[in-house]
Amino acid sequence: MTTLEIRDLHVSVETEDGAKEILRGVDLTINSGETHAIMGPNGSGKSTLAYSIAGHPKYKVTGGTVTLDGEDVLAMKVDERARAGLFLAMQYPVEVPGVTVSNFLRTAKTAIDGEAPKLRTWVKDVRSVMDGLRIDPAFADRNVNEGFSGGEKKRHEILQMELLKPRIAILDETDSGLDVDALKVVSEGVNRVKSTSDVGVMLITHYTRILRYIRPDFVHVFVDGRIVEEGGPELADRLEDEGYDRFLSAATATTTTA
Ligand code: ADP
Ligand code: MG
Repeated sequence: MTTLEIRDLHVSVETEDGAKEILRGVDLTINSGETHAIMGPNGSGKSTLAYSIAGHPKYKVTGGTVTLDGEDVLAMKVDERARAGLFLAMQYPVEVPGVTVSNFLRTAKTAIDGEAPKLRTWVKDVRSVMDGLRIDPAFADRNVNEGFSGGEKKRHEILQMELLKPRIAILDETDSGLDVDALKVVSEGVNRVKSTSDVGVMLITHYTRILRYIRPDFVHVFVDGRIVEEGGPELADRLEDEGYDRFLSAATATTTTA
């Protein structure tokens, strides 16, 4: 059993006009086996939350705590966070010139497990996961994310997730830019990890569409740097009908009275 616990998290970024507070007190607990959807309008700070947990240097934690089974995540370096079992599928995956997908995956696997995977089983595993994600085998020899289409980038993120078997996976807008077929393939990949391991999933999304394929146990509405409402899957259905307007006007009202 694994628990990621986020308590009163405050995060700022450095801008030209000085430090700007983006996260304004986030509280969230994710246990292994649970899927939490984080839903909110653009610019509400969802990616900032993901990056802060993963340890991106641009995001400065100014208050609060993040722990994984009681261990202080914020004190860990980025690679230590990955070794501890945290995984981030980025909204905008970055190019890694000169590094092939195949080398990248093996290096990551070796770093996380502390030993190189056995070559024969590894090659088989990679092939079978790529197969499941309908990724062309030739893809393994291409440089990471270089010239990848939006859909290929997202599949590559899930390919990593399936092979690295994280304890907590943060999926940042993994559905964005996918057509229905690709969305199904990617969702099946996530569901395979869910059914074969005890992973806890933080599924960040703007739209409810992916939640038809990956059912959340909990839904959190994220507005203006904090969680403003929580519920079960029915909350996502409500958002699908009503959008975020009711929360946005509430956020504006709080800001005006503050
Ligand atoms: P979301 O993922 O919910 O769309 P983000 O976390 O990407 O939101 O952004 C939240 C807010 O923080 C936005 O106003 C965005 O412009 C700002 N922001 C995020 N990252 C940076 C950065 N590196 N520099 C300056 N502003 C940033
Ligand atoms: Mg985002």
